[in-house]
Amino acid sequence: MKIICPQCGKESEWSLENPWRPFCSERCKLVDLGKWANEEYRIPANKEQDEKD
Ligand SMILES: [Zn+2]
Repeated sequence: MKIICPQCGKESEWSLENPWRPFCSERCKLVDLGKWANEEYRIPANKEQDEKD
């Protein structure tokens, strides 16, 4: 299953072996968490992806 990284928009494999999912990498996850902390980040569609899986 392929997903689009919510941070950089890059296509990434949704795998249990990827600890950073739904992100493609640790860097994207950390950047995303930083945005949440600043309350600048909103992607409602992201939650739909989680429910599908
Ligand atoms: Zn990414």
